[in-house]
Amino acid sequence: AAAGPRCAGCGIAVQAENKGALGYVPKAALERSPLVCQRCFRMKHYNEASSVTPDQGEFLRLLNGVGGTDSLVVHIVDIYDFEGSLIGGLQRFVGANPVVLVVNKIDLLPPGINPNRIRNWVQQRAKEEGLRTVEVLLVSAKRGTGFERLAETLESHRRGRDVYIVGATNVGKSSLVNRLISDYSDLDAEVTVSSYPGTTLDLIHIPLDDEASVIDTPGIVYDTRLTERVPKAYLDMIVPNKPVKPATYQLDAEQTLYFGALARFDFVEGAHQSFTCYVSPSLTIHRTKLARADALYADHAGELLQPPTKEDLASMPPLTKHRFRIKPGEEVDLYISGLGWIRANGKSGAIVDVHAPKGVKTIMRPALI
Ligand code: GDP
Repeated sequence: AAAGPRCAGCGIAVQAENKGALGYVPKAALERSPLVCQRCFRMKHYNEASSVTPDQGEFLRLLNGVGGTDSLVVHIVDIYDFEGSLIGGLQRFVGANPVVLVVNKIDLLPPGINPNRIRNWVQQRAKEEGLRTVEVLLVSAKRGTGFERLAETLESHRRGRDVYIVGATNVGKSSLVNRLISDYSDLDAEVTVSSYPGTTLDLIHIPLDDEASVIDTPGIVYDTRLTERVPKAYLDMIVPNKPVKPATYQLDAEQTLYFGALARFDFVEGAHQSFTCYVSPSLTIHRTKLARADALYADHAGELLQPPTKEDLASMPPLTKHRFRIKPGEEVDLYISGLGWIRANGKSGAIVDVHAPKGVKTIMRPALI
């Protein structure tokens, strides 16, 4: 088959005999140019046709099916939006199947951070969310970091079984699966992989060998993430594309920070202390007095305070307030899903208010960094 025609999508030798086998092209399509195998054709086709994403209920039903299989589950999360991208209750769905937690976008963390600390933090947080993992791996699909280790880990835990890939939207699932497949499988060229957010709930099967496949599931949409609540054009502004530069503010009580008009942080009560913001550098941080904060927003949201623009602000949920009490000695982040987090550095405790668009997950968590 070496000299025969090959698929322009994945490079495999095409054949028109066996519908179930790799490289199948219907006889009628053999003359097409470019010549694409049916599997790649479908992925491409669905990818283009899809604008609708399966709702949570459908997704969970699909996930439920995984519990009935004997497989290895790979859950991809985004380190920049960990709590927003972790699938709550995954354990219930996957049953006894082992879970490898793959933490992507590790390149976004500031340089010089001890990976062991991050790994322990992730393990601990996952445990608190009720998820048992056989392994936590830190990777960057963008840079290719951690993939050798990932391939080894999958091979050792897979033991001939299928690998199910699950994750929320935008965690880098497509990028990761694509890289994994091209490193991993026998296919000559990079496979056309899509995250397949279609109306159809079919899974994408990508053969690993004669028996087992990597099975890519559609990305689950969580509207508790700011990234799902802003107009798409803002994603480049709120999601950093290079390591976040921590910005430290020395604050007195009754001072406020605005993050564009997307979020607000009030230091309500406590001794003078510093707070470090881990947010995208494209987001302007504006400092003001708490007493003036409401008026500033009323007069300047969408102008001096942006993003978003006034027009887009109208389409977003209003800011709502979450109060947190930081105990003396506690090391915590105030985290806004999709936006980033604020690390409290004081040792003497504080009361803070975090304002975020209604519905966006806003929590206090053990400090990541
Ligand atoms: P999916 O929706 O989960 O399939 O995610 P995609 O693969 O489409 O990636 C979503 C966004 O995250 C894109 O803008 C990618 O460029 C970006 N992305 C994916 N992997 C990484 C990574 O390792 N680091 C960074 N900084 N960005 C990434």
